[in-house]
Amino acid sequence: MKKEQRTGIIIAAHGRHYLADAQGTRLQCVTRGKKTNVAVGDVVDLTLTSPDQAVIDKIRDRQTLLYRSDQYKSKLLAANVTQLFIVVATEPSFSDDLVSRALVAAEAAGIAARLILNKVDVEEGLEKARERLKVYTAMGYPVHEVSAKGRPEQTVDELAPLLAQQSTILIGQSGMGKSSLINLLVPDADIATREISAALDTGKHTTTFTRLYHLDAHASVIDSPGFQEFGLYHLSEGMLERAFRDFQPYLGGCKFYNCRHLSEPQCAVLDAVRAGHIAKMRHELYGQLLHESAQTLY
Ligand code: GDP
Ligand code: ZN
Repeated sequence: MKKEQRTGIIIAAHGRHYLADAQGTRLQCVTRGKKTNVAVGDVVDLTLTSPDQAVIDKIRDRQTLLYRSDQYKSKLLAANVTQLFIVVATEPSFSDDLVSRALVAAEAAGIAARLILNKVDVEEGLEKARERLKVYTAMGYPVHEVSAKGRPEQTVDELAPLLAQQSTILIGQSGMGKSSLINLLVPDADIATREISAALDTGKHTTTFTRLYHLDAHASVIDSPGFQEFGLYHLSEGMLERAFRDFQPYLGGCKFYNCRHLSEPQCAVLDAVRAGHIAKMRHELYGQLLHESAQTLY
């Protein structure tokens, strides 16, 4: 009997359990051998082994790829994402370090990034959050003020058009309102999650897995549990400096062509930090990431 072939998209991953959507059919998937290089968003060629099970034969070329930090078993976060929404809020306070790491990951992957400031209905905290977000606006990242609970309709009006023709991943520290936003933007997200959890067949009905929701044939939303600490270890020094959008105007101005912008004389990046054109915290993070990637080289 000839085995049936399908093409699908990976819509959920939990450890080595994958779920693919092949023109509306949900298929539990396994990889051949012990390979775990499959990510949510991957387009895959499949061979059916039963009406609802398949083996992944091939991963199609990826447009983009986001990595997780090392602490997770799977190092791949999501494939073929076209834009990243970083959800922050007026309260609780958000971490600039995590926001910047996410921006660096997006730049390195060639993915557009936007900041979503949620809970603007909470008066206290609003001005402070706006003030803190100015550094990102200055770099050219759009900031959208929304309120998933306070004014849901306007929030949908603001964000839904941005999702058209895109594969959007939402990330945020817990408590920022990411789930509330997903529930607004993805009809029946809760039901879909329960279905996916059951279909993943991991033995436990967990909701802590990355999942992809189709909005229509050309738009999808990816929800990733917790705040994804992005893996940035794969970035070379050259890639790292290019992933800092605020460094770009200065990179050609250093005296040494191989300047690392740490303590070199006549470094245009350090001059810009001193002059206040580059935020100190951004330069500190750059130094930290250089250090972290050097640590993994041994
Ligand atoms: P997540 O951890 O990022 O997924 O956040 P949730 O969506 O679970 O929201 C965390 C808490 O913030 C919940 O108690 C929500 O009701 C609340 N919340 C979410 N969005 C808003 C908002 O726009 N305004 C206010 N005041 N509270 C919100
Ligand atoms: Zn320099």
